[in-house]
Amino acid sequence: MTGASTNEREFARARAAMPGGVNSPVRAFGSVGTTPRFFVSASGPRVTDVEGREYIDLVGSWGPAILGHAHPAVVRAVQDAAAHGLGFGASTPGETELAELIVSRVSRDGAHPLERVRLVSTGTEATMTAIRLARGATGRDLIVKFAGHYHGHSDGLLAEAGSGVATLAMPGSAGVPAPIAAQTLVVPYNDLDALREVFAARGDDIAAIIVEAAPANMGIVPPAHGFNAAVADLAHEHGALLILDEVLTGFRVGPAGWYGVDPVPFSADLITFGKVVGGGLPLAALGGSAALMELLAPLGPVYQAGTLSGNPLAVAAGRATLENLDAAAYARIDAAAERIADAAASALEVAGVTHVVQRAGNLFSIQFAAEAPTDYETVKAQEAFRYPPFFRAMLDQGVSLPPSVFEAWFVSAAHDDETVDRVVAALPAAARAAAE
Ligand code: PLP
Repeated sequence: MTGASTNEREFARARAAMPGGVNSPVRAFGSVGTTPRFFVSASGPRVTDVEGREYIDLVGSWGPAILGHAHPAVVRAVQDAAAHGLGFGASTPGETELAELIVSRVSRDGAHPLERVRLVSTGTEATMTAIRLARGATGRDLIVKFAGHYHGHSDGLLAEAGSGVATLAMPGSAGVPAPIAAQTLVVPYNDLDALREVFAARGDDIAAIIVEAAPANMGIVPPAHGFNAAVADLAHEHGALLILDEVLTGFRVGPAGWYGVDPVPFSADLITFGKVVGGGLPLAALGGSAALMELLAPLGPVYQAGTLSGNPLAVAAGRATLENLDAAAYARIDAAAERIADAAASALEVAGVTHVVQRAGNLFSIQFAAEAPTDYETVKAQEAFRYPPFFRAMLDQGVSLPPSVFEAWFVSAAHDDETVDRVVAALPAAARAAAE
């Protein structure tokens, strides 16, 4: 590869060692038509690639880097934990402290829907366990999910999933046996009539509805006013559970997550967390009432386990992250997100590009459509071809965006005014690139 850049050489080498050169598909930059950047370090709002080039980062490790990369308190906590042992496969006081912290933060008007928490290592495990628990609790098999929602890559949840599945334009995944796929009923999002029909036909067999609290894996598509509450009511009328997936929104869009800020209160039976709760290390969680959660082994008949569950380094990172996510941090994140979202909208407006910028708290994304998409079909109908040139123009100017139009933009508490100014300054050229 004479004349190839270091990033290109790294990618060629990676492709010879790993399928597609990556360990998670969207990292291959397949839908944005350029070479993935290989990062070697990150600090605050910035990442640095193998060529020594610095980028302002709006991916944030896909969510965990909410305080900014390598936040000193988080790094210190992990170093302290590491000095005491990398893992014991046994109980530690730190796990209890993190579980207590999660329970105390996840409240609405002072009421806590969580009494017990189990720590796992990935969001996929959290949702997979929540579903097994819902099936164990109800004695029913069917699960309802919404098209375009991503809940990780367990077999039953890949049907019409958003995120990487959407980026690759796949209907689901090969390797999922038809009888397993048949246990998942997929319903259009924001469509209560469709949901009611499914319950009218199969209500007695449905164990749970799983829903992204505010969908962010088909770009941002906020729930219609009262949608989550109506979903919860419908599930409960039929003896099914509501699994609220806050893996992406949890501790990001507010001190608890979407649950604490949805304009219409509702009750969820199980809530899943990931990303922020692990502070950048592999840790996720699920929680609910004691009665439900104690159906898990060792107390109950629903099995779940993990060699690395509650790993002390991950627990330390999660605790330090949550402890530093105070009102001031959220105010900084919200303000930076608002400035960038507004500037993106006005740059596209000036360039004459049809667009909407949808928001869910401090999460936002651009959609190249005249009307705000409300479900997966309308998301897929947008002029998605405008995103790759937009993305590349931002990258060329030193701003790293999510490499897919179907992903949310992640802002951190380290995105200060100067950082945001640089993003804002890059947007007009990217908008012009999108117009072509
Ligand atoms: N649920 C939601 C809402 C997510 O956004 C994700 C990941 O992006 C997951 C579950 C899966 O989490 P993980 O990638 O940690 O397995």
